[in-house]
Amino acid sequence: LDPVPSDIAISRAQTPRHITDIAEELGIKDSELEPYGHYKAKVSLDVFKRLEHRRENGYYVLVAGITPTPLGEGKSTTTMGIVQALGAHLGLPAIANVRQPSMGPTFGVKGGAAGGGYAQVIPMDEFNMHLTGDIHAIGAANNLLAAAIDTRMFHEATQGDKALYKRLVPVKKGKRSFSPSMLKRLSKLGIQETNPDSLSEEEAAKFARLDINPDTITVKRVLDVNDRFVRGVTIGEAPTEKGFTRKTGFDITVASELMAILALSSDLHDLRNRVGTMVIGSNHQGVPITTEDVGCAGAITALLKDAIKPNLMQTLEGTPVFVHAGPFANISIGASSVIADKVALKLAGRPVGSDARKGFVVTEAGFDFTMGGERFFNIKCRASGLKPDVTVLVATVRALKLHGGAPDVKPGQSLPEEYLQENVELVRAGCANLAKQIANAKTYGSPVVVAINQFSTDTAEEIEAIRQEALKAGALDAVPTNHWAQGGIGAENLAHAVVKAAASNESTTPQFLYDLDQTVEQKLTTIAQKMYGADGIELSDLAKEQVKRYESQGFGNLPICIAKTQYSLSHDPKLKNVPSGFTVPIREVKISAGAGYLYALAAAIMTIPGLPTHAGFMNVEVDEKGDIEGLF
Ligand code: ADP
Repeated sequence: LDPVPSDIAISRAQTPRHITDIAEELGIKDSELEPYGHYKAKVSLDVFKRLEHRRENGYYVLVAGITPTPLGEGKSTTTMGIVQALGAHLGLPAIANVRQPSMGPTFGVKGGAAGGGYAQVIPMDEFNMHLTGDIHAIGAANNLLAAAIDTRMFHEATQGDKALYKRLVPVKKGKRSFSPSMLKRLSKLGIQETNPDSLSEEEAAKFARLDINPDTITVKRVLDVNDRFVRGVTIGEAPTEKGFTRKTGFDITVASELMAILALSSDLHDLRNRVGTMVIGSNHQGVPITTEDVGCAGAITALLKDAIKPNLMQTLEGTPVFVHAGPFANISIGASSVIADKVALKLAGRPVGSDARKGFVVTEAGFDFTMGGERFFNIKCRASGLKPDVTVLVATVRALKLHGGAPDVKPGQSLPEEYLQENVELVRAGCANLAKQIANAKTYGSPVVVAINQFSTDTAEEIEAIRQEALKAGALDAVPTNHWAQGGIGAENLAHAVVKAAASNESTTPQFLYDLDQTVEQKLTTIAQKMYGADGIELSDLAKEQVKRYESQGFGNLPICIAKTQYSLSHDPKLKNVPSGFTVPIREVKISAGAGYLYALAAAIMTIPGLPTHAGFMNVEVDEKGDIEGLF
């Protein structure tokens, strides 16, 4: 329709297919499907086991972006457009793999993440709210851990060694026994004795006292709400806690390390191990304390045992979408799960000896390429062992005009004149940013196709300028695409280019930017110089101390996630296009040992956003029939 209706109106106007039909078409068996209502289902990991022997995976496509405007340049929309074109128009098996959005932004300023226009996941209200409860499960698991830590400190402080040990390992049915996680702690401490009644007093005290230094605790409580008023809180204020107060705060649930673990785990066993190795802080001697030490890793895994199964939904054109995990893009990978990718690649793969055409799995890396793309390759692909066959880089006329020198754009405000009139010079000048991001993407060895996401104000000359500059910069192809206004049919040319590029990919072995055995400082410098175009990095005194500590604790060989702005290649959002002559300040370095990376803060990062004066929630209503209105 012209004009294109609102996203929720488009979503509501389409009758979704029953999820069992989508699953059947994908080759998922009844016994492997766990429907949640009519339009969503969890898919058991048994699918992967059943198809593991398929040596040929489907083609793997990564959608990433150039340096965007604050309005977003359409990565999610393009992901949906490509699979709608491949699946509903080119007749190829095609699965989109996307993140589950957090309800914080859904009711805050940004809105949902289902794509937009005629390229969306539906039903978008279910997608943007509870889905099948995975984020809630992460919240429950994270908060169990937070409660376990504070309560343990309280019990250690209020009980002597003997009483503490006896209560920790109580007599049950006439005898004491260690739980599996307690046995792991014993082995970590080098205590050979496994009969609880035979530990020496010294061993029992060593086992029972974690001696956590409260100043080092990194686990905060979490909520899936943009509630700025719990950024800093004091806990333990009730008289029952006897004055054991502590200053801490809340993060948004998706910023929990458990969400990053969910995204990077390869199966339940791997998830259990990663949860156990999560470092929650240190003891007073500086020794890292883990979730395993707190005795909480098994229970957390129990809470996440369903969350580990990918959720199946559909696009507006009835093609399959996996929605799974949604780690916070600032301090984590900002991509959907390794498990969903592996399951989807098998489903889209080709049985040995068959001449059926291989299908496609299209997934997205949040933020721009210097953030989402770089982490996708160096962290996610390192964890999965997979390599995309094609990288699609989404570019828009409006973002390139911004880089070319047009004034800033802001959400909720009308666009300056430069964006409404043809201006090929501005676009061409801004193409330096596109060229740098193409070069960045090419570092990882996959062919690059530029998707020029068309807006109604774009002119043919402007689009042609982008096409020429993209090809000059080494893109294999550059194709205008109009899925937002037209659905899959509008992305057909892009889909053909993706098919061609995927077939041209020569290697499926991932390529990385740095080796893990380099020092932390070397790795940071490599990312800053090679991806951002920086002269180098400068570590604060605090960051130097942290790096030294992590290296001495044996964590120096992890990959690194740098948290910076996505609005510039550099760390400074004001520096547009291709800045040079800057040094990236690293303020702090932190660890996500279970997820398996260090993260470095090159900017002040808020881990729980706030609500604006006019927030998304103010528009939402439920009508007489119980249908939701007003979600964007
Ligand atoms: P990203 O994933 O890069 O953040 P999205 O796909 O979420 O971007 O798109 C950002 C916003 O812009 C969404 O509201 C989407 O509906 C809108 N949008 C995307 N492409 C177009 C287009 N070609 N024309 C108009 N609006 C668009």
